[in-house]
Amino acid sequence: MNPNPFAPDSVAVYVFAAAMGAVIGSFLSMLVYRLPIILKRQWDRDCREALALPPAEKAETFNIAWPASHCPQCHAPLAVRDNIPLFGFLVLRGRCRHCAAPIPRRYFLIEVLSTLAAIVSLAHFGLTARGAGAFVLSAALIALTFIDMREQILPDAITLPFLWLGLLVNRAGLYTSLDSAVLGAAGAYLFLWLVFHAFRLATGKEGMGHGDFKLFALGGAWLGWQLLPLVLLFASLAGALYGGALILTRRLARTTPMPFGPFLCAAIWLALFYGWPLMILYLRGAHG
Ligand SMILES: [Zn+2]
Repeated sequence: MNPNPFAPDSVAVYVFAAAMGAVIGSFLSMLVYRLPIILKRQWDRDCREALALPPAEKAETFNIAWPASHCPQCHAPLAVRDNIPLFGFLVLRGRCRHCAAPIPRRYFLIEVLSTLAAIVSLAHFGLTARGAGAFVLSAALIALTFIDMREQILPDAITLPFLWLGLLVNRAGLYTSLDSAVLGAAGAYLFLWLVFHAFRLATGKEGMGHGDFKLFALGGAWLGWQLLPLVLLFASLAGALYGGALILTRRLARTTPMPFGPFLCAAIWLALFYGWPLMILYLRGAHG
């Protein structure tokens, strides 16, 4: 860090990045809670329409911006001071000021992760378009991770825009060539699509969801095809280790499906920051 406050790697720039990361994190934790509810209401309406059923009773307006942040238990609106990212949770010690209902720790965790992602993006890529892009992708991956853990869905509303965005940023060759990004996005989708159908034909079971194909395609669009084997290896290893540990400690039945999205997200993130150094290390090892 540079003591000159106007340098791109000064303390002031880091503090600003951390604060921005925390604010975005607060938005992400709201999104993780609200987006699945919005989607379920939409699906409910679509199903009723398709089945020619009468529409459900008019529900209260609920979208990303409305109603204002409130306690899900007692519905008391959140005071501005309690809504400050990171500090709000700490000041309240994780409980609602009005009814003392516990606030899920997820809120705090998402804000911490987003803050860290902003700092790491700045430290790794500097105050550049690559740094900004890395943070934007990190934010999307954090939201997808927590939504998949909670609801076992990877909403198109996040995966698809960020897939296209990956292709766009690589028009300028931000992380890889455009050619490699297009091959990565299409190849990733088709590869998992093939695995999915082969697995289903062989076992009659569905091993993953279509959201996983789109998320992997997103990874291909940002990273290029060359890093995809690494992503799949990381994600599968982490998933197997985690699942194995849960089964061994009997916290998960062998037959319970486990979302793959969080592991894919973590692997894509790792590959964006450390993919090429790891590949070079591996290739050096493989060729003595
Ligand atoms: Zn409350």
